[in-house]
Amino acid sequence: MPDTMLPSGTDTVELTRALVRCESVTPREAGALELLEKVLTPLGFRCERMDFTEKGTDDVANLYARVGQDKNGNGKHFCFAGHSDVVPVGDLSSWTIGPFAAELSAGYLFGRGAADMKGAIAAFTEASARFLKKRGPNFGGAISLLITGDEEGPAINGTTKMLKRLAERGEKIDACVVGEPTSSKKFGDMMKIGRRGSMTVDLVVRGVQGHVGYPERLDNAVHRISAIIEALVREPIDQGSTHFQPTSLQFTTVDVGNSATNIAPGVVKARFNTRFNDLWTSQKLLAHLKERIEQANAKLGGNGTVEYAKVEVSGESFYTQPGPLVELVAGAIESVTGGKPELSTTGGTSDARFIARYCPVLEFGLVGESMHKVDEKTGVADLKSLAQVYEAVLDRFFAA
Ligand SMILES: [Zn+2]
Repeated sequence: MPDTMLPSGTDTVELTRALVRCESVTPREAGALELLEKVLTPLGFRCERMDFTEKGTDDVANLYARVGQDKNGNGKHFCFAGHSDVVPVGDLSSWTIGPFAAELSAGYLFGRGAADMKGAIAAFTEASARFLKKRGPNFGGAISLLITGDEEGPAINGTTKMLKRLAERGEKIDACVVGEPTSSKKFGDMMKIGRRGSMTVDLVVRGVQGHVGYPERLDNAVHRISAIIEALVREPIDQGSTHFQPTSLQFTTVDVGNSATNIAPGVVKARFNTRFNDLWTSQKLLAHLKERIEQANAKLGGNGTVEYAKVEVSGESFYTQPGPLVELVAGAIESVTGGKPELSTTGGTSDARFIARYCPVLEFGLVGESMHKVDEKTGVADLKSLAQVYEAVLDRFFAA
């Protein structure tokens, strides 16, 4: 777009619309980061693209923008983190408004990424712009935007690598807010101070294939997996912890592929995913689940085996103790909405799980009700409120 058509950094609504018009379905950049760079640079941000490639994965564009002191300064460094990529539109014919048209209607801004989470990126920008206008570039610290194009994808070439690069060159972050759409029903009603971990396990269960008429000569793998499923789901894994729901385990598929009516299958493949709380590490949990599986398998007798074909941990759980950062952000929210946010650890994973290894982090953003759905939308008033909350966060964090 010609620079004369650039949205202003202090107009969250127009900047969100411009970002939504970039069709940055993961892992495509589609001009979203380029646009952001053009808006942030005049505000004083030093913009740096951190694009990563790795064999066997998609190339990903990321943007790191920083204003204020450089890494050798003594001031504190506050980071806003987020993602410019969006999930696919899904069934296009179900959308009542073009997913990338960024239309305003009935007080809402519609479009893929409006809630998750281009609106928050625009709000980071407006909040920073307003803060810098008040305090000037020498406010005694640093503000950064860490924006990845790989959150909705495999998250290999995004936030993790950016954080690693920053750490390698001695750039420390003191606190971070991720702009995921954490509000539940009403803007400001919820923030996330942790997330459950996620692990997916592929099982291959083997018995002995045989003629159904000769049960003494076979070892039905379907019966084995049934016993294993029972052993995993009948008893709860835990009762939850102070801040987390109980760990959940869901089988997502059980595949036999047997079309014969007279053959008992000898092999079954199955997959389950577990969302686990802070009582576990993925390693501890896997050991516990294996114990249940092996016990159930042994109980059936015979020589049936269970193979753990693949174990994929997409994130450990993380939790930020209620403390200075949580209080600061909750206070900023209350100053804008008049209400206290619930401190929650529910929902899927987010990049906060990577950031938690480096500094205190929490998540706060728009109402997430429509995220990943058709007709994704966000309230226009909410966008403005979000920019105010983020500005209040900066004011409080860098209180003179
Ligand atoms: Zn998101």
